Amino acid sequence: MKKTIKDISVKDKKVIVRCDFNVPLKDGKITDDTRIKAALPTIEYLKEQGAAVILMSHLGRPDGQAKSEYTLEPVSKRLSELLGTDVIFAKSDVVVDNNVKGQAEKLGFGQIMLLENVRFRKEETKNGTDFAKELASLADIFVNDAFGTAHRAHASTAGVADYLPAVSGFLIEKEVEFLGNAVENPARPFVAIMGGAKVGDKISVIRNLLNKVDTLIIGGGMAYTFYKSMGLDIGTSILDKDSVGLASDLLKEADEKNVKMLIPVDVVCGKEFKNDTETVVCKRDEIPSDMMGLDIGPETISLYKEEISKAKTIVWNGPMGVFEMENFAKGTFEIASAMADSEAITVIGGGDSAAAVTQFGLESKMTHISTGGGASLEFLEGKTLPGVAVLEDK
Ligand code: ADP
Ligand code: MG
Repeated sequence: MKKTIKDISVKDKKVIVRCDFNVPLKDGKITDDTRIKAALPTIEYLKEQGAAVILMSHLGRPDGQAKSEYTLEPVSKRLSELLGTDVIFAKSDVVVDNNVKGQAEKLGFGQIMLLENVRFRKEETKNGTDFAKELASLADIFVNDAFGTAHRAHASTAGVADYLPAVSGFLIEKEVEFLGNAVENPARPFVAIMGGAKVGDKISVIRNLLNKVDTLIIGGGMAYTFYKSMGLDIGTSILDKDSVGLASDLLKEADEKNVKMLIPVDVVCGKEFKNDTETVVCKRDEIPSDMMGLDIGPETISLYKEEISKAKTIVWNGPMGVFEMENFAKGTFEIASAMADSEAITVIGGGDSAAAVTQFGLESKMTHISTGGGASLEFLEGKTLPGVAVLEDK
């Protein structure tokens, strides 16, 4: 277990917090402030405890240069509105300079300031020692609360912890607790559901989960690579050619490990990759040569729902079909609904899966929806995330 801000005293301390304020912007306006809202509990707690709070984040990919379209100034304004208190924006093209150091020194306890986009400095993504030291020089304690970048060893996510005591904020605490417990300490039966476009992206996740789960369910575009490895005709369905051999290895591994591995038994096929295309539902060995599989079929849905109803822990990553098109969203919707209705611990990782759950309005019915796309996948792969590894153990 990692120490959190609740395990240390932050009163009368300067605390530098790595947040994830990487919000979508259009014409300089924030179009979705979910990430800023998600950061509020940690910031408010630190303020109430009497810390001077220095916030930092990246925004977009300015590639190590000060580019005005990537300034965090709009975030500073929105944050101030949400907190109902002043947020001092430390404007600087180099993030930390003498002026910013002075502002940090003068910052009163209970006050909040936000540094400029850390990726204005090219040392950030290279985890440059000098930049990490500059950031650390502003504070007494480092708090990491940016799960979405915790899989990257950058100056503001990992390097800074070389020079300061480091603990997690509430967001990282929650991610580590739910993702970690679900995988390492699951209530059984433990069912993992894997989907999405390509097997190649997720081989390591599947491999790791094969050592942990009782049942592994496959859906989405990756199913066709498994079909191919089973010698089935897949028509014009998406195929990850380089992973056919791996898919058959995974089927073998599942068998050896006594993991029940389920591959879709029927498919909703479409002629073209568009919503209003001609469709046909068929068994997996009857896919027409001029059609592509775009969703799991009704028999597969009931089979998968039955597994879900028996589970005590369910981890889901990757949609069951092309859920962005209404006519091919049913499989993903039915699986998400079954998870929502289940009593099991339900954990969702992956950007598109999380988006699907939100699109269906089922967020509040899940135990945990991970906010970090890449980071949650690396976690499910069993990797240690650098931004978590640097935090002090309890
Ligand atoms: P996540 O972000 O949850 O990890 P992925 O990025 O791996 O998920 O995959 C999501 C994408 O997979 C979606 O855009 C979806 O349309 C696509 N997908 C799912 N099933 C199919 C399919 N049968 N054919 C093509 N694409 C598919
Ligand atoms: Mg994705």
